[in-house]
Amino acid sequence: MLRNIAIEAISDRSTVWDCLVIGGGATGLGTAVESASRGLRTLLVERTDFAKGTSSRATKMAHGGVRYLAQGNISLVREALRERGLMLKNAPNLAHPLKLVIPAFHLWEIPYYTIGLGVYDLMSGKLSLGHSTPLSKTATVGHLPTVEQNGLKGGILYFDGQFDDARLATTLALTFSDLGGTIANYVDAVGLTKKNDKICGAILRDREAGSEHEISAKVVVNATGVFVDAVRKLDEPGSVKMLAVSQGAHLVLPKKFLPGTSALMVPKTSDGRVLFGIPWHDRVIVGTTDAEVPEPIDEPRIRENEIEFILTEAAQYLANDPTESDVLSVYAGLRPLVKPAQSGSTAAISRDHTIVISTSGLVTITGGKWTTYRHMGEDCVNRVTQIGGFQPTPSRTAQLPLHATSAAREISEPPEHMAVYGTDRKKIETLAASEPGLGDRIHERLPYIVAEVVWAAREEMARTVEDILSRRTRSILLDASAALEAAPRVAAILAKELHRDDAWQKKQLAEFAAVGRIYQLRPS
Ligand SMILES: Cc1cc2nc3c(=O)[nH]c(=O)nc-3n(C[C@H](O)[C@H](O)[C@H](O)COP(=O)(O)OP(=O)(O)OC[C@H]3O[C@@H](n4cnc5c(N)ncnc54)[C@H](O)[C@@H]3O)c2cc1C
Repeated sequence: MLRNIAIEAISDRSTVWDCLVIGGGATGLGTAVESASRGLRTLLVERTDFAKGTSSRATKMAHGGVRYLAQGNISLVREALRERGLMLKNAPNLAHPLKLVIPAFHLWEIPYYTIGLGVYDLMSGKLSLGHSTPLSKTATVGHLPTVEQNGLKGGILYFDGQFDDARLATTLALTFSDLGGTIANYVDAVGLTKKNDKICGAILRDREAGSEHEISAKVVVNATGVFVDAVRKLDEPGSVKMLAVSQGAHLVLPKKFLPGTSALMVPKTSDGRVLFGIPWHDRVIVGTTDAEVPEPIDEPRIRENEIEFILTEAAQYLANDPTESDVLSVYAGLRPLVKPAQSGSTAAISRDHTIVISTSGLVTITGGKWTTYRHMGEDCVNRVTQIGGFQPTPSRTAQLPLHATSAAREISEPPEHMAVYGTDRKKIETLAASEPGLGDRIHERLPYIVAEVVWAAREEMARTVEDILSRRTRSILLDASAALEAAPRVAAILAKELHRDDAWQKKQLAEFAAVGRIYQLRPS
């Protein structure tokens, strides 16, 4: 996947793309894979890096959403459970089943949640990951050795899926490229072009070269997450906002807070939400929160009240209370929620996806969840096919294994970071063995090796230190301070791969230092 080949294709004015997808998060990538797999000549442009927005900041659950079941949103849960099953089938190296345990501190909770989760199991049908069961106090502690035992009556075990969000985004970008799609990061859609009041293309700005290119496209899809309203304004300057933006934050803790492979699920926190404590890449992710924010930004920051809320709630359910000094990293993401006619709290807004088509033909797709990215892409390309007057073709992505997928991981197998590469892993290991130093770790507290940095630059379109340390590897989430310490080494490797000079390295380090501070709880 080479960026300069994509830029060359973008600058060829004679090309008429069937479909231009703006936005390289879960929604845009899912739409692009769907479009290319149906034979449409497709271009995807991403203003920053793939999944730099919301799609690298999820709780990393491939789930139907137990919470939505409680809200009675049966169709959303059924759709998401199907998609959960498909994600695990088509990307088994990136998504795997996860055991979750709800600790019960009142006896009535055990039958109550066992019945509810039984319905959840039934709804997943053939794609069920296992049966939920009530647990004795001893069995609950067996799954969650660090759970608060004072007043514990027992628990409920159920199954969902877990995945690596930014790595899935990279894999979708590679899958799209394998299907013949053209894709580039650091390309901003800055304008839309029209002929007879109908959209016929876009103005794209290559942010690395600073050059602008006018391209022709039969259909343009706006999949820009929390920024869809800004792109809609390029089409109709007077358009009314369709989104409410809500922030959710997480803390990352050392594995000792939740050793073992089972996750902790709290169905009702003090603000009525769900809280997860999830083992992930040898750490524990705890979250999340939900509060409306006025305007979307690229790099949202966790707020003081979110830190306090998560630590206080976690302390209620864990025997050893986590403190600020235990926190390895913090991150916040913004949910694109489609406003209902009467908007109340953002926690109550539906997580269904929405497709809106403007009078000039701009297709905007937003809402939904990471778990449902494939179905969103399928729905969107059905509309693209109608608008573009293309030959209708059946979707085949439900049966499409993603790039370099390898055999499914067993639920009991501990997470192992190289598994995310699927069959590409062997190539990275061969690269690591090809030269002294390539097998070395980038930092003693991080699992990643130098060969992964080289691979990301050569094969995965990584362009910046942040791309490597935030999304191709998940260093910044696993240990923000270690990621900052590893940055000079990564900058030097990347500069060599991309033929950049010392000034570029310096600028990269300054930019990464600014981002890195946002992921440290108390930056020094
Ligand atoms: C805290 C939190 C936890 C979550 N947890 C889960 C979970 O566990 N499971 C789950 O299924 N879902 C989860 N979600 C939901 C899920 O993450 C989102 O639904 C999904 O990532 C949205 O993807 P998107 O592609 O629509 O948006 P984004 O990922 O934000 O992608 C939009 C992209 O468009 C780009 N862009 C914007 N303007 C332009 C332009 N003019 N030109 C080019 N590119 C542009 C942006 O840079 C961005 O990369 C969670 C969400 C949040 C906030």
